[in-house]
Amino acid sequence: MEIKEDFNLVNNNSFKFEYSCSYYGEAKNSEDILSFIDFSKHKEKKILVLGEGTNVILANDIDYAVLCIKSKGKRIEGKTVTVSAGENWHDFVLWTLKNNLFGLENLSLIPGTVGAAPIQNIGAYGVEVSDFIESVTVVDYQKQEEITLFKENLEFSYRSSLFKDNRNLLIKEITFKLLTSPNTNTSYKALQEFLIQDDIDPEKATPLQICRSVTEIRKSSLPDYLREPNAGSFFHNLIVDDDCLNSLLEQHPELPFFRVQEGTKIPIAYLIEQNGWKGSSFGCARVSDKHSLVLISEDKESTDLLLLAQKISDDLFNKYNLEISLEPTVVK
Ligand code: NAP
Repeated sequence: MEIKEDFNLVNNNSFKFEYSCSYYGEAKNSEDILSFIDFSKHKEKKILVLGEGTNVILANDIDYAVLCIKSKGKRIEGKTVTVSAGENWHDFVLWTLKNNLFGLENLSLIPGTVGAAPIQNIGAYGVEVSDFIESVTVVDYQKQEEITLFKENLEFSYRSSLFKDNRNLLIKEITFKLLTSPNTNTSYKALQEFLIQDDIDPEKATPLQICRSVTEIRKSSLPDYLREPNAGSFFHNLIVDDDCLNSLLEQHPELPFFRVQEGTKIPIAYLIEQNGWKGSSFGCARVSDKHSLVLISEDKESTDLLLLAQKISDDLFNKYNLEISLEPTVVK
């Protein structure tokens, strides 16, 4: 495999930041992965793995050996499907539906690769990818060994997993256990309303109809990162206790909230919007006027974007004592 030195990552991150890395390689198979690990050890560089770079914020030039995973391949074995990490997520969802395998339809059009999906346990419209993951095969590049981790050891939780804080594990392939007959989830109001508008009874919607509806909703409600550089949801929604919820409701009686296993989830987009941030800008960064959880940057550098994010976080902290965190990973 070819390894490039001092490589500009502009085409490897959805914000289009023009920062460089010390070394860059693309892995199409296990051999490439292992030779890149050897190379980075020899050069004494930490490895950063990128898929399509749709959930990452580069803060500056980075002293990393960056490995971009380009491996492709899908195989059906009995009731499971094993997929290489470099496959595009949405193409994979479409492929499952063509093969009469169901469950992932609510996750249509989430940007990024299959390999990135478990890291933040992508979720949408009441479904999380962890609902359908059986195991993940990884290469531990500290120990230089390949291991298969089963779901019970992957520490999946709301938009998080073992992989969030464990950057030694390079995801090589994922095995999914999908449904062979549909069991659709149309619990989210936005999805129900869209289906009804389309003359589809949400109770009877097929997985393909859900896939098309979610795709349409996302296209109309989220800015396209190819035209307006962004990384999707920029902040995590918060899980709060009843005291915090009640104090927020005193100030915002209309605040939507959702009871979940861990507590009560409140949509941060609502508070960002209520405090006048939607559509506002700072330098070359702005809060999308389509969706206040999405921050857009039109710059080569991330300074304005990170300052804008800090201003929003400070504002919510000062007003509500809430500490919000970033959903994309910041790499320094
Ligand atoms: P929305 O429908 O406007 O809802 C606002 C928020 O309320 C969402 O964040 C959602 O939480 C929560 N919510 C709504 N109905 C709910 C219910 N019945 N039960 C529990 N929570 C509920 O959301 P949106 O911002 O347009 O996004 C639509 C979906 O796409 C959401 O599920 C969102 O998470 C997902 N999405 C995912 C990614 C990603 O994984 N990278 C990026 C963008 C959007 P949840 O976010 O927990 O669902």
